[in-house]
Amino acid sequence: MEKITLNLEGLGCASCAAKIETRTKGISGVDNVILDFSRSKLTFETSGQDTDSAILEIKNIVNALEPDVVVSVRDNHIRDNHVRDTANDDHHNHTSFVKNSVGHNKKNLIRLSLSLVLFAVGILGKNFPYVEITALAIAYVLSGHKVLYKSYRNILRGEVFDENFLMSLATFGAIAIGEYPEAVAVMIFYEIGEYFQDLAVNRSKHAISSLLDIRPDEATVLRNSFWMTVSPEDIQVDEIIIVKPGERIPLDGIIVDGGSNLDTSALTGESIPEYFALGDAVLSGSVVVNGILKLKVTSVYAESTVARILSLVENATSNKAPTENFITKFARYYTPVVVFFALGLVFVPSFILGFENFNTWLYRGLIFLVISCPCALVVSVPLGFFSGIGNASKHGILVKGSNYLEALSQIDTIVFDKTGTLTEGAFEVYQTHLPDGVVDDYVLLEMATLAEYHSNHPIAKSIIQFSNHQVNLDDIQSLEEISGKGVIVRSKKGIIVAGNKSLMQDQGISIPDIQSPYTHIYIALDGIYIGAFDIRDKVKQDALQTITALKALGYRVLMLTGDRKEAAGVVAKSLGIEDVFSELLPEDKYKKVTSLMTSGANVAFVGDGINDAPVLASANIGISMGAIGSDAAIEASDIVLMTDEPSKIPQAIQISKITKKIVTQNIIFALGTKILIMILGTVGLSSMWMAIFADVGVALIAVLNSTRVLRYKPKTF
Ligand code: ADP
Ligand code: MG
Repeated sequence: MEKITLNLEGLGCASCAAKIETRTKGISGVDNVILDFSRSKLTFETSGQDTDSAILEIKNIVNALEPDVVVSVRDNHIRDNHVRDTANDDHHNHTSFVKNSVGHNKKNLIRLSLSLVLFAVGILGKNFPYVEITALAIAYVLSGHKVLYKSYRNILRGEVFDENFLMSLATFGAIAIGEYPEAVAVMIFYEIGEYFQDLAVNRSKHAISSLLDIRPDEATVLRNSFWMTVSPEDIQVDEIIIVKPGERIPLDGIIVDGGSNLDTSALTGESIPEYFALGDAVLSGSVVVNGILKLKVTSVYAESTVARILSLVENATSNKAPTENFITKFARYYTPVVVFFALGLVFVPSFILGFENFNTWLYRGLIFLVISCPCALVVSVPLGFFSGIGNASKHGILVKGSNYLEALSQIDTIVFDKTGTLTEGAFEVYQTHLPDGVVDDYVLLEMATLAEYHSNHPIAKSIIQFSNHQVNLDDIQSLEEISGKGVIVRSKKGIIVAGNKSLMQDQGISIPDIQSPYTHIYIALDGIYIGAFDIRDKVKQDALQTITALKALGYRVLMLTGDRKEAAGVVAKSLGIEDVFSELLPEDKYKKVTSLMTSGANVAFVGDGINDAPVLASANIGISMGAIGSDAAIEASDIVLMTDEPSKIPQAIQISKITKKIVTQNIIFALGTKILIMILGTVGLSSMWMAIFADVGVALIAVLNSTRVLRYKPKTF
């Protein structure tokens, strides 16, 4: 199995794109074909089939449909550098594409303006037959020669539903019945519409890709006491790199010298630069604002934050939203059906009513041909979703696919994990409890440290920090971490159990009842309770506004936690959450979310990814928090919030809703206009002029409407 990505440089026709995709799917041994129109790339996998011959076959398909498109392989088979390569190619192709299209554009603009002038001359000169005919004929050929040529070539290949062919046919028909100005107008406005549509699509493609362009070009590394510039992939862990003001940090690292404000907006959407100093960990993709940093590299490029984000974004468009899939399917049937109706309209009435009015019915049928391309939908719908993903990423919200963006707009219930999600997850020991006459403070701290030493849970870390105790790690013999409960450690000092009430009960250890609204962690040595810690956590600064906003928007908000009831109650109360479920094990959270979904709720689960992976994966939408450094969370969730802020959730929801709204508007508007024109055309109330508006005018408006998604600014709370 090999995954290949092809660049289809210059792919401008969306319905051709859909055809290319369908036909590529038909090649045997080629699977998982995804054509990403907004980024002009085609991805597929081969199994059993020779890759080169598959590529050749695809080239033939593309060539047949869109001969101007240049096909090139993106993936250079270099696995490790995969991300870098694609990004590089992207950049390269992008610039060359823009350059090409600038020259191209100018020529087109001149050609079309000249056609328009001649068209005007033709109309004004209608009292001078030679002037009229000559001017119109030149205008027709000038504006339409490309369309005519393409349709000639495609019809030789048997492409009867090709949009160029249908457009040529429509204008020939108009000429045949003596409607010369109509024929010319259809051709000119078709080309003008296409021109502006291309322009708009390219603009937004450019805007989105520059938004996502966080790829560093090079890195300056210290080798043999010289600074040298190399590409980021060539740098090893522990090497020292230097980053100067204005430069993007190429690799994740730790500051070993210097300090600077860093602009992390490309990663987090956070526009206010923050100061980073000696010893701080910094992430690739951030931009150094004012200082000079020397960094010790902590991961190779392929595992860096930038590479991970890029590969995530690269793959995002592979997950198409149901609406996109619907449009693709719809497009496949739309053209043949409309052409079929056109034929019916031309011949059926004439057979029934006689052929005296054949020209009238022919004209009406031609109107159908003019609107037989589903271009407006095929271009604007994917563009809308991709703009939504781009907009979200600008706000530090990574959406792994249009399907998730669409699903987010449909949720009605939001389930929050407590620790690390609504609270900081930075615990703090508030006080200790020491029963009389068992052990002293010193022993309690020692046992607690031995027990928690190897645990990654934030509670464990807070206990270690509080105890500040030197222990002999050789004393630890074995350890068992019971998710959602605590840890059991066999040590040379005895069996230590550290965890919540439920763990103590499981172990048959009797504990006193502690009255305080905190999290209690009990410590037992060889079955005897020796003390406890009161631990507290701070609610995140924007948690209250977020919950209030979500409730005001009509969402049902729940909180699930493994923590004890009292501690959960305090947090829930301060946030105004009524539905609280506490003392849950990770599998209980999973069951709770599943049962909500079974009862018909559309659930988003928001977690910190530490032990929530199963729930994140099972909810309708899994949203992980502050995942900027964590692979596990990126893997398990559908939407990744780059910062720790819950307030990104209402922002993500707003972006998903506006995307869905604009996409729906486009579908209704485009289809509505076309159906209206077809009805009017059938009864003789519409002209080819109106039809050409319903075709390219509508497409242009839909594309421009889609670009609003990218400019949309979600409200902050
Ligand atoms: P949450 O659902 O709030 O994220 P967890 O599922 O991570 O909480 O943990 C639930 C409870 O299990 C904690 O409140 C704590 O009482 C206990 N616990 C989990 N891990 C540990 C540990 N390493 N040491 C002590 N107690 C732990
Ligand atoms: Mg948790």
